[in-house]
Amino acid sequence: LVVADNVHKSFGRLEVLKGIDLQVRRGEVMCIIGPSGSGKSTFLRCVNHLEKLSAGRLWVNGELMGYRQKRGRLYELRDNEIAAQRSDIGMVFQRFNLFPHLSVVGNIIEAPVQVKKVPRAEATAKALELLERVGLPDKADAYPDQLSGGQQQRVAIARALAMEPALMLFDEPTSALDPELVGEVLDVMRDLARGGMTMVVVTHEMGFAREVGDSLVFMDDGLVVESGVPSEVLSSPRHERTRAFLSKVL
Ligand code: ATP
Ligand code: MG
Repeated sequence: LVVADNVHKSFGRLEVLKGIDLQVRRGEVMCIIGPSGSGKSTFLRCVNHLEKLSAGRLWVNGELMGYRQKRGRLYELRDNEIAAQRSDIGMVFQRFNLFPHLSVVGNIIEAPVQVKKVPRAEATAKALELLERVGLPDKADAYPDQLSGGQQQRVAIARALAMEPALMLFDEPTSALDPELVGEVLDVMRDLARGGMTMVVVTHEMGFAREVGDSLVFMDDGLVVESGVPSEVLSSPRHERTRAFLSKVL
């Protein structure tokens, strides 16, 4: 579902991604780990084209992100066209960034109503279903500041799902949460994975990676150092840099 082919990204002179090659199959849950500054967030942002690649190519669901192919030639898409491509991809960030002035339901129906032109009543019915799924059926009319961090993050997941994405990206979704709230968010992500969603998850939760992940990628200094079955990478890393990193976090 995702193919990254030699993805490079620089900010000015700083080369952050130095040639990432990755493939995520439909239904796969890929977890990405690595030290701070290794380029994990930048890579996720490249996947949904919040960042334009410096070189390389990225396909999501058969679409070459940022481009349209026409008569064998490539044309760069305009911002609004990229937004349409991106509507296939849900993203959940470390900080919940819900719209503070909208209720929970308001947050969830915003994109379907504005972008996909789904009728309000239909979008609201769907939102209530999604709230059920993330364990918050009674919070429809609450405002974000009335919710705990874990509840806000579950609303953020429901909001992303409302667009019926083919792919969900998570950037350290639990690392801003108090420890006792981490589990409820991971539970929702686990259910989503069991339901067959294709997911790329940047995380420090090694237990989640081991249990839910189909694959685990270790990134360092803008490159994929090693990848494989999570239990194998975690218990017998092949590279010294992976070993050094794991000895610090496990
Ligand atoms: P962390 O674990 O701390 O979240 P990360 O692996 O997600 O780290 P990135 O956020 O991708 O790392 O950042 C990689 C490098 O790119 C860092 O050196 C960062 O300062 C730099 N960087 C990221 N975004 C920008 C930007 N918009 N402009 C300039 N430099 C940037
Ligand atoms: Mg990051």
